[in-house]
Amino acid sequence: MSKFFSNKYKNLTPYVPGEQPKEREYIKLNTNESPFPPSDSAIRIASECAKKLYLYPDPDVKELTELTAKTLGVKKENVIMTNGSDEALNFAFMAYCDKDTPAVFPDISYGFYKVFAEINSVPYVEIPLKDDFSIDVDDYIKENGTVFIANPNAPTGIYLSLCEIERLVSSNPNRIVVVDEAYIDFGGESAVKLVDKYDNLIVTQTFSKSRSMAGARLGFAVAKEQIINDLMGIKYSTNPYNVNSMTAGAGVGALKDKEYFEQNCKKIIQNREWTETELKKLGFSVVPSSTNFIFAKSPDIDGKTLYLKLKEKGILVRHFDKEKIKEYNRITVGSFEQMQTFIQTVKSILEEIK
Ligand code: PMP
Repeated sequence: MSKFFSNKYKNLTPYVPGEQPKEREYIKLNTNESPFPPSDSAIRIASECAKKLYLYPDPDVKELTELTAKTLGVKKENVIMTNGSDEALNFAFMAYCDKDTPAVFPDISYGFYKVFAEINSVPYVEIPLKDDFSIDVDDYIKENGTVFIANPNAPTGIYLSLCEIERLVSSNPNRIVVVDEAYIDFGGESAVKLVDKYDNLIVTQTFSKSRSMAGARLGFAVAKEQIINDLMGIKYSTNPYNVNSMTAGAGVGALKDKEYFEQNCKKIIQNREWTETELKKLGFSVVPSSTNFIFAKSPDIDGKTLYLKLKEKGILVRHFDKEKIKEYNRITVGSFEQMQTFIQTVKSILEEIK
């Protein structure tokens, strides 16, 4: 740290993204990316947009906002496009948390929530998950503060029903609830359909997972118009050109190719179910997943050792050192071939340690 670094950041612990190693080819099952390329129309429109890179992008991201709204069945005034859903989440921390309104989120959830709270100097309350890793909505109803819930949750993969989300949102109209739906396309029912009904609900989603565009950095938030206006205020005060022209074009292309999107989600769900069954046959406990990843532990090998042995053999998964979950690994669901290799490799590791 340099002597010039502001005091307000000196205790900051930055988010640690999953490894993106370059030194060797891995089967990458560690950052919940899609194993499939973006749709052809996303690539085609993005390349056309590349010719206009000498101009600033459209700060209103008009075409993409309209198409996103149409796809979701809401009005364009209910949508803000962002640089990954991370940016939408950060905007929500900036807009709706302060020293009197702490951020409230589960103790096991997306690691960035804590970092967003810290960088924005807002207090936060971490609510323990239940022993089976599920969320008890009553724990949040009791709290005063802005609630952030990943649904399905990460890294557990567990989905909380829409009626439980609605019970939380409706319990206090003076509390903002942010539902982070990064993984919703792999199994859950979206809270977007509640946006019309509640002034205090924000739903965020991403193009990173189900639309194969993690590298493009594209996400969005959906909420009542007044909330979107707040978030627009933050956007225009930090980064008016938050979505670059190529990404906006790719987003339009991806939304137009509904068939490709649906087909890929279906494949991931099938591959997930196959992998879950195979892991169970090998004795693993598998947390029920509604996402493109599987959270699982083996009775025969501890989480960290399995992670390291898989890495040695060219497969990357994500391991977290946190006490409550250190026996587990989070395994991104890849292509069927990747999952076959993964299961074969786990089998050989279990044989080795016998
Ligand atoms: N929420 C959750 C729960 C995530 O796992 C991720 C991906 N790391 C994000 C949000 C952010 O995704 P992105 O910024 O790529 O849209």
